[in-house]
Amino acid sequence: MKISERVNQVPPSGIRRFFELAEEMDDVISLGVGEPDFTAPWSAREAAIDSLERGKTSYTANRGMRELREAIAGRAATEYDLDYDPDEEILVTAGASEAIDAAFRAFCDPGDTVAVAQPSYVSYVPGVVFAGGEPLPVPTREADEFRLTAEVLREAGAEEAEALVYCYPNNPTGATMREEHLEPVAAFAREHDLTVLADEIYADLTYDGDHTSIATLPGMRERTVVFNGFSKAYAMTGLRLGYALAPPEAIQAMNRIHQYGMLSAPTTAQYAALDALEHCSDDVQEMRAQYDRRRRFVLSRFAEMGIECFEATGAFYVFPESPWEDAEAFAEALLEECGVAMVPGDVFGAGGEGHLRVSYATGLNELREAMDRIEAFLE
Ligand code: PMP
Repeated sequence: MKISERVNQVPPSGIRRFFELAEEMDDVISLGVGEPDFTAPWSAREAAIDSLERGKTSYTANRGMRELREAIAGRAATEYDLDYDPDEEILVTAGASEAIDAAFRAFCDPGDTVAVAQPSYVSYVPGVVFAGGEPLPVPTREADEFRLTAEVLREAGAEEAEALVYCYPNNPTGATMREEHLEPVAAFAREHDLTVLADEIYADLTYDGDHTSIATLPGMRERTVVFNGFSKAYAMTGLRLGYALAPPEAIQAMNRIHQYGMLSAPTTAQYAALDALEHCSDDVQEMRAQYDRRRRFVLSRFAEMGIECFEATGAFYVFPESPWEDAEAFAEALLEECGVAMVPGDVFGAGGEGHLRVSYATGLNELREAMDRIEAFLE
């Protein structure tokens, strides 16, 4: 079979490669996964079961069940001050991943440039390539606590881009951006007429105050697509449910792709998501409190070991500097000699070199054991 050039030019995920190594070994503590160790709240699971018992096994509307879109709109309004019309401005998708992929395909003509703030979630660059666009890496700096700035956008030449994609709270660095940090980025987008694709899937996992969406800044709603979903805050990765919020013409375009490529997001998961929005905010608070405890524990242990690590304030990752210059060699040695898995930072693109992504979506006891092993290894 002839495989397309477009697919051939994208290498397999660097994260997976590392995990295949780890899977072959016994007694490995993985600090590498980007997935909650919690199970979805019981009430959401029960709603899914109940929907099956009631025989809800058909497609839903392409854009998602209206009730769910209303609940999403309600939550976006109360939590993030985002006002979106459930009929025109919300698309429910199979994970945020599907929404992000549909957006790249909806906004890219062949050769269009999409600026990708890095280090970043590993799907953006391949997604842009699959859509026929040209990814333009925009490396952020540790000196800016890995926040996106107008300066790094200018340095990378992002004014030539059609769109900008970023994720805050960030995977892999754990960085967050408050309103004062978003303002210069918004000004840059307005000045150079960029569409902003804002991946806010970790919005509910913010530890230094409330999350601010760039779409709430003046002149930004009309040029922004916000992505969110249920995988992270509600620990529902396997249910595959996410959504996009955007002006009507953007949702229409993305829905054109979605209605042919997906038809509708999984029905059972939509019932679980509806329940999650209506009944599970206490579960989210509790999980966030636990992540925050783990975050502080990991940061303090790294500080005690003399490992440099900027204070991550979101998601469930910290991004320390590698104790060895070669982060990949360090991660491999750590895995082979003491069974602790982390991901070398360069997997996440420019700006990630010399760092390690450490996920604390792992129980405190395991984290303690992992930190003890790292300390012993360094000694
Ligand atoms: N965006 C980011 C930044 C992520 O880290 C992930 C999951 N690792 C996703 C999107 C994908 O989320 P979903 O499960 O909703 O497709």
